[in-house]
Amino acid sequence: MKVLVWNENFHEKENPYITELYPGGLHEYIASILKSDDVEVSTATLDDEECGLTDDVLKETDVLIWWGHMAHNKVSDEIVERVHNYIMSGMGLIVLHSGHHSKIFKKINGTTCNLKWRDGARERIWTIKPNHPIAEGVDETFVLECEEMYGEPFDISEPMETVFMGWFDGGEVFRSGCTWVRGNGKIFYFQPGHETNKAFHNENVQKILKNAVKWACPIKKNIPLECPHTEPFE
Ligand code: ZN
Repeated sequence: MKVLVWNENFHEKENPYITELYPGGLHEYIASILKSDDVEVSTATLDDEECGLTDDVLKETDVLIWWGHMAHNKVSDEIVERVHNYIMSGMGLIVLHSGHHSKIFKKINGTTCNLKWRDGARERIWTIKPNHPIAEGVDETFVLECEEMYGEPFDISEPMETVFMGWFDGGEVFRSGCTWVRGNGKIFYFQPGHETNKAFHNENVQKILKNAVKWACPIKKNIPLECPHTEPFE
């Protein structure tokens, strides 16, 4: 399986605390969680030519992981269209945290993807579909002592499945882990992962990321997107 972790790598340059928490940046840290004998992981950032999302790279990618926040608009529409086509033809997509406002996630949903937010909250996450492949081995409930509160209403298209729900100590709730299918591609959104908090160090969060990559991996990718007129078979 080939996974590509994409990160805008913007906050890391402004705030050295982030690279203390996540050495090499969020992309390198997330890649280190996922690397195994079966999973080949590479990274790409906004600084790479064409954001590192060229045809040559995408056609080899089974699952793309997306972390972005401040620089969503620096990803050109042409690149977003290209990524979208690869998802339609089978590539999996995992969107993390503030990636909810990325161009690709908004395109997939067809909505604003707006939500309520406030940093510095205690979050309790509930596994509400324990039999879902992304929840395999994940605790029924676990706590992130400090995470950014994301609250409902979350303006997304109705998910295919809601696997995790978050509750925050301000009383807010949030659909923290949701799935969709678009064309031939599987998509998972996961809410934790603010750049100055430690969510990606959490054992359950790491398990969820590993499971999500497995779940989103296509049986077949690069399926041609065509709409042919055909003669009858019988
Ligand atoms: Zn955040």
